[in-house]
Amino acid sequence: MARKIALVGIGKIARDQHIPALAADPEWDLAATVSRSGTADGVAGWTDLGQMLADAPEIGVISLCLPPQPRFAYAEAAIRAGRHVMLEKPPGQSLAEVHALMALADAFGVTLFATWHSRMAHAVAPARAWLAGKRIVRAQVTWREDVRKWHPGQDWVFEPGGMGVFDPGINALSILTAILPAPVHMTAATLTYPANRDTPIAAALTFSGHVTAEFDWRQEGPQTWDIEVETADGTLLLRDGGERLLLNGTLVTEGPNREYPALYARMTDLLNRGQSDVDLAPMVHVADALTLGKRVVTDPFHF
Ligand code: NAP
Repeated sequence: MARKIALVGIGKIARDQHIPALAADPEWDLAATVSRSGTADGVAGWTDLGQMLADAPEIGVISLCLPPQPRFAYAEAAIRAGRHVMLEKPPGQSLAEVHALMALADAFGVTLFATWHSRMAHAVAPARAWLAGKRIVRAQVTWREDVRKWHPGQDWVFEPGGMGVFDPGINALSILTAILPAPVHMTAATLTYPANRDTPIAAALTFSGHVTAEFDWRQEGPQTWDIEVETADGTLLLRDGGERLLLNGTLVTEGPNREYPALYARMTDLLNRGQSDVDLAPMVHVADALTLGKRVVTDPFHF
């Protein structure tokens, strides 16, 4: 029988990805939404999570599609009510609050899944397999996109805890940390802040092992989501956020975007096994960037 699930925070990503992914998966039954203003067609809606948890004990899984800032309180309430929880990326606004959720999920015997949708991109697993055991000479991440296109009017990204350009940049870091055969750590960062905002709009990062990353939210026109890794045995290029893999300049695989269906399939697998999956490696790099970052101030930003 399909598992009943509730989506919390019916905004851009819930509408773009979560609702269609659940509708197409017979393992899942979208049985409720919780949102102050959003709803989904034909699905019972609540505006308060506590009320929904009390009213609908048959719904065992809660998927949180909120921005990171309010997410902890919602996750804590769901876990304390004995529900399994899926977290959108980034899993929280701080590392400590995610550690607290991990401990709470263990104590209540429920599954906690901190999702990284970009890790489910078509070419990420083949990239990891190709890099396994290879000596990395250098790697360069280039993540340049237009914040006005992808986050129209979403002021939370520029508020404390919203992470600024690390909101997309953490997707790149989730891929990087999944494909490199050995971990790297950050050694320097330059962060560019709009004069009127609390989070960066651009970042230049240097890691150990000749790994660098450049994130910029001011790119209009064609968007760039590339990771290039030079090894002793050739060069790997992941393009378009992990959808296409080129080895030594030759396209070897590309595929459609099935990231969110894959996340829900993974959640089904975790529930069947009674396991959690919380990997904080991408978020550690963001926290380190904010710790190490040299601050540069640029023009004010308005949507
Ligand atoms: P969003 O549309 O701005 O917000 C999602 C929903 O969360 C809103 O519709 C709102 O619903 C609720 N919400 C916002 N602030 C809240 C608050 N302070 N307290 C309670 N509820 C609040 O954001 P989004 O773009 O969907 O992003 C949500 C998460 O998904 C983020 O962590 C983001 O990184 C991740 N994500 C986004 C995208 C994307 O393309 N945008 C892609 C992948 C992942 P109500 O006002 O109706 O309650």
